[in-house]
Amino acid sequence: MHQPAVPHLADSDPELAQLVESEAERQFHKIRLIPSENYVSTAVLEATGTVLTNKYSEGYPGRRYYEGQQLIDPIERLAVDRAKTLFGVDHANVQPYSGSPANLAIYLAFCQPGDTVMGMALPMGGHLTHGWNVSATGKWFRAVQYGVRKDTGRVDMDEVRDLARAERPKLIFCGGTAIPRTIDFPAFAEIAREIGAVLVADIAHIAGLIAGGAHPSPVGHAQVISTTTHKTLRGPRGAMLMSDAEHAKAVDKAVFPGLQGGPHNHTTAAIAVTLKEANTEQFRTYAHNIVANARALAEALVERGYDLVSGGTDNHLILVDLTNKGIGGKPAARALDRAGIELNYNTVPFDPRKPFDPSGIRLGTPAITTRGLGVEQMPQIAEWIDRAVRAADEGDGDALDRIAAEVRELLVNYPMPGWA
Ligand SMILES: *Cc1c(COP(=O)(O)O)cnc(C)c1O
Repeated sequence: MHQPAVPHLADSDPELAQLVESEAERQFHKIRLIPSENYVSTAVLEATGTVLTNKYSEGYPGRRYYEGQQLIDPIERLAVDRAKTLFGVDHANVQPYSGSPANLAIYLAFCQPGDTVMGMALPMGGHLTHGWNVSATGKWFRAVQYGVRKDTGRVDMDEVRDLARAERPKLIFCGGTAIPRTIDFPAFAEIAREIGAVLVADIAHIAGLIAGGAHPSPVGHAQVISTTTHKTLRGPRGAMLMSDAEHAKAVDKAVFPGLQGGPHNHTTAAIAVTLKEANTEQFRTYAHNIVANARALAEALVERGYDLVSGGTDNHLILVDLTNKGIGGKPAARALDRAGIELNYNTVPFDPRKPFDPSGIRLGTPAITTRGLGVEQMPQIAEWIDRAVRAADEGDGDALDRIAAEVRELLVNYPMPGWA
């Protein structure tokens, strides 16, 4: 049953309640390897389901455009103060609705339409909002894009420096959605400083690793830090912008009134809970275990002949090029889902195939680490992945169903917050 239980929902809308129950059960029985997903705590779930959703509070604590903020103000202050303490930043804004609007606010704060900006290309591992052409950020700004080296699969800092010197972007984004290696914040900072650009570290994927001390921090290197709260940080769907004191005012003005109206106070409360949870020894252990699990899973996949972009991982994420296995990312991901292993198909750098049918799969260990799986289970997961990929290639659906049954058998021993 979903935890917390949803009896009122079941009464008033049984159809919807059934879908929610089934989704909780599905999450329980799957090895969830999508690297941007997680299981939030029951406390975080409870916070998102509170009466705070009833309240309008445009503005910031102490400077609101609506009355009745006696309790909303301390809730938002709690979230802001906890963010500042956890990450060691001068300033935090917890109001962005999600990662993409948070990034849009950064453009609004520091650029005019048509200005030059720089980020990592989407097919190389960047995010849509770092200037990719189908995104508003690629349409309304002149975006130049860097990538990774073909021989190493790692960000090409020489290319970043040369591009920055030639194009003089106002903003440089570092970070992305499919980067299996440590981001060199000091090197980016040196380049940004040389050309007078604002450096933005988009740590959406790795915020939990940074908070838990399992990845270097961008603080002191990037003037502005953007993050979602729902990936490795293990909070509600939302985002935060953090900055040094100099850039604080511009960030706040861009979020409100520049881009958004009323903040989602139930989400703000859940972010506060998340940040408290993240400032514990338990969370630091979780962050380090994510990396240990990813490393063990990567090694086990390499042993089975899988070709990993950059050869391995430093963080929570693994990008596999399936070309040598003779199967596309999409049919592999679909077969793996049937086998109880959930991940996503993904382009790999220099992918000769189309984005909707690319060569790779992307996987990561945050959610399974939250479930309590450890390095000793990683060879088994690699074996299942390998069997499923071969079964997919042979069109053997029964083999996939047999793997799914084995997966379920393992997972019954690993509780999941949100389902009991
Ligand atoms: C996930 C992600 C985002 C966008 O977050 P949404 O909440 O999906 O809008 C932005 N940047 C990076 C690097 C991300 O990984």
